[in-house]
Amino acid sequence: MSVTHARVNHASPKLPIVPLIALLALHTAAALGMAPTAAGQTPATGGQASAAGAGPGPAPPAELVLIHGKVLTVDAADSTAQALAIRDGKIVAIGTSEEILRLVGPATRRIDLNGRTATPGLIDSHAHIADGGLDELYDVGLSDAPSVAEALRRVAAGIALRKPGEWLQGAGWDEGKLAERRYLTAADLDAVSRENPVWLLHTTGHYGVANSAALRLAHITAQTPDPPAGTIDRGADGAPTGVLKESAMNAVVDLIPPPTPEQRRAGILKSIDLLHREGMTAVKDPSIDRPVWDAYRALLSEGKLTERVCVLWYAGTTMKSARAVLEEIEAQPKPPQSLGDGRLLSCGAKIYMDGSGGARTAWLYQPWNKNFNELDAGNSGYPAVDPALYREQVRLFHQAGVHVGTHAIGDRAIDWVVDTYAQVLAETPTLSLRHSIIHANIPSDHAIETMAMLQKKYDAGYPEVQAPFMWWIGDTYAGNFGRERALRLVPLKTFLDKGLLWGGGSDYPVTPLAARYGLWASIERETLKGTYGAHPFGTAEAVDIHAALRSYTIWAARQLFLENRTGSLEVGKDADIAVWDKDPYEIPSRELRNLRCRITIMNGEVVYNADGKSERGKGTHHGQT
Ligand SMILES: [Zn+2]
Repeated sequence: MSVTHARVNHASPKLPIVPLIALLALHTAAALGMAPTAAGQTPATGGQASAAGAGPGPAPPAELVLIHGKVLTVDAADSTAQALAIRDGKIVAIGTSEEILRLVGPATRRIDLNGRTATPGLIDSHAHIADGGLDELYDVGLSDAPSVAEALRRVAAGIALRKPGEWLQGAGWDEGKLAERRYLTAADLDAVSRENPVWLLHTTGHYGVANSAALRLAHITAQTPDPPAGTIDRGADGAPTGVLKESAMNAVVDLIPPPTPEQRRAGILKSIDLLHREGMTAVKDPSIDRPVWDAYRALLSEGKLTERVCVLWYAGTTMKSARAVLEEIEAQPKPPQSLGDGRLLSCGAKIYMDGSGGARTAWLYQPWNKNFNELDAGNSGYPAVDPALYREQVRLFHQAGVHVGTHAIGDRAIDWVVDTYAQVLAETPTLSLRHSIIHANIPSDHAIETMAMLQKKYDAGYPEVQAPFMWWIGDTYAGNFGRERALRLVPLKTFLDKGLLWGGGSDYPVTPLAARYGLWASIERETLKGTYGAHPFGTAEAVDIHAALRSYTIWAARQLFLENRTGSLEVGKDADIAVWDKDPYEIPSRELRNLRCRITIMNGEVVYNADGKSERGKGTHHGQT
């Protein structure tokens, strides 16, 4: 997902800064001990009871207990327990049901898990929840359109509701899912909208299609040259087809009226609701600008931010834009400090090194393929920003002590990013900024070795990967990466073998938001439609559920600078918990994508309960077993 421009202004007073809990020493040790070698191991069952508050006198009773279940703690030993107790939003004890029931007082609320499984609340290290929620609420949804004709039918229905000249936006289309297996074009759209400008963003966010009315407004003609780091797709006669890639999108997108502040808040709330339904309690929203930050801040001050959100500010493609964003970042607390006691973190800066595997714009050493076996001759993609300038941007942020996340899909882009991180860290060896390689789709052997070095030496160089790419856009991806390269995609097993940690994610709305799809895709590596067979990415790079769950819990928490408060169920940590209908460690891995969340608890508060209505804001009370 790409944000093509950032608007920056300076306004609004600061909320009080609440530092994260002073890192509990025992948990720091546990968090740092999350060696990936421990990940795939057989879990030690029967976790020992442990409880906080070993001081004199009896501990006050718990506010909420979960009993008679199986608790997958995802602690360093991957231990399990039966029950846990919560007070003041934190886990105060974990153990057997018998042990936990001793902490029950007259006002303690009990949730009987009836043998069901609880895990840490799942975490997405890369999901555009602010933008995705806007798409859900206000755009024509095309992610499940099976054909060009159906996409056009939906656009026509939307046009019928609009005033003459009003923009129509849609999102989510993917030629790999259309029966015709081709791009939508301006000619297609003109048939249903001559007067209203139409812009339909591809599911990757890196390209889209405009109708002729929109192209006219943007002054895009056959004579318009491709902009730097962008592509105007053209027919044999040189005329634009309507498909615009990367920076070429800006000429159209910049004309569309931005969402109102109310719409932005509604979009975020829409996504938070979806996250709660999927057992997800923390998310990194990568590539925001000032209006989005203001929307998060407003929701926080209204008490509606019932999700942990860590944001990256989009740094733009110039030094000027990077400096302006640095100014925004410097005005906020740096992670792990937060606003709202661990709810909102200004985590750092986002830069794009290259484009997309869908648009064949990502920066590769060898030319792209198409249709799996054909060559897209002469096209090896391109950098999204001048590589030397990128290096200066990273140096700027790094020297200011700011976390950087860089979008890099192609092998050549990834190499440039990891070498840049290695260079700035050698110059200024600041530890634990956790610079990340977002997507890291086909890292070279050199990149993997460099990431391993960066993690060990500097606590940096973490891939934030999306296993669901192989599924949701996997047919398009396989066709473009080609038979041989596809086998190197998302090499999780190699990461594990090299001792690398990674954060799991969806890149929502590129793929659906639910993390259960990512757990499943990390193991099954199957495409949605099987256009080039079910497994064009092979199965050699599959990992097991223990590693997959870590990547969506404690490892992802690291990349949100929240690993000392969430990501595992341990005494002293915040009570961020998901309860599932099935045990992810026990069911066949092919069934993981059908896991259903029953209850989501965030900071000790039940924010979703499939067995009853949401109890947000009700606080502690009796009953409900
Ligand atoms: Zn993204």
